[in-house]
Amino acid sequence: MPPPKHQHLKMKTMMVEDTGAFDCDICCHPLKPPIFQCNEGHALCSSCSDKLATTGKCHVCGTSTRGGYRRCRAMEHLVETAHVECLNAAHGCDAKPVYYDLASHRQVCPHAPCHCPGKGCSFVGSTKKLLDHVSRLHGWPCTIKIMMPHEVCLGDGFNFLVLDRLVVNGSGTVISTTGHFLFLLNVARQPLGRAISVFCIHPHHKKWRSSKAVKCVLTYSQSVPECKLLVRHHLQSDLCVDCTDLSNGLPHTEKRFMFVVPNSALGDKDEEAINVTVDISICNI
Ligand SMILES: [Zn+2]
Ligand SMILES: [Zn+2]
Ligand SMILES: [Zn+2]
Ligand SMILES: [Zn+2]
Repeated sequence: MPPPKHQHLKMKTMMVEDTGAFDCDICCHPLKPPIFQCNEGHALCSSCSDKLATTGKCHVCGTSTRGGYRRCRAMEHLVETAHVECLNAAHGCDAKPVYYDLASHRQVCPHAPCHCPGKGCSFVGSTKKLLDHVSRLHGWPCTIKIMMPHEVCLGDGFNFLVLDRLVVNGSGTVISTTGHFLFLLNVARQPLGRAISVFCIHPHHKKWRSSKAVKCVLTYSQSVPECKLLVRHHLQSDLCVDCTDLSNGLPHTEKRFMFVVPNSALGDKDEEAINVTVDISICNI
């Protein structure tokens, strides 16, 4: 038995490249049910039909809409079937959202690109591909999937850290176990010590700033037996971590806090890397 007609319509999908016909003529936003029309079939979105109701005539043909605009079921069916490719298809996204949902998909698309922080490197890709790129092509150290807090060994320059299961609510309960979070710990040698700056690499960093707080506690603790005046050095800072997609390169560090481990507190001054304990948490604001 064939399915009822409305179900049959719902199941059809079509890929659309030219989406102009699916935008509201008035506000230019994608038409999304409920959609309205004049008696001649000129369609417009729900909020525009509310605003124009008082004019009493169609914005296109001028026919009377005194009885109000009517629902346009045919157009509603059409927009439900009109799918588009995600703009990040080139970066590996195979999602094909309904056209009117494209904007909301883009805000959460896991394939949205971030840039490589390498000088002169033009690589752009999802955080997953970026991680692969920085470890394979540049050979920068990457530590993956660790629970916090964790001791990491940081060499000079870029060190990448991938964290999992770190979205927690106000009472400290993990509320998301999906998705990886990519961090960059940059170690720069300065005359007096090693300065560490921390960044979260995220494609949706602008949206994140208003909804998420990324915090990091850095701890350095070292016994210094060979130094006569210093026996033990303990350093700890609570930082708010900046999120970036690195599209403008590394954020300037001059105005930001840097965690500086003084040379005089390093156990062996010639050692290449230093051990720092990192405790990162991501909270919903
Ligand atoms: Zn509109
Ligand atoms: Zn009309
Ligand atoms: Zn996508
Ligand atoms: Zn690169």
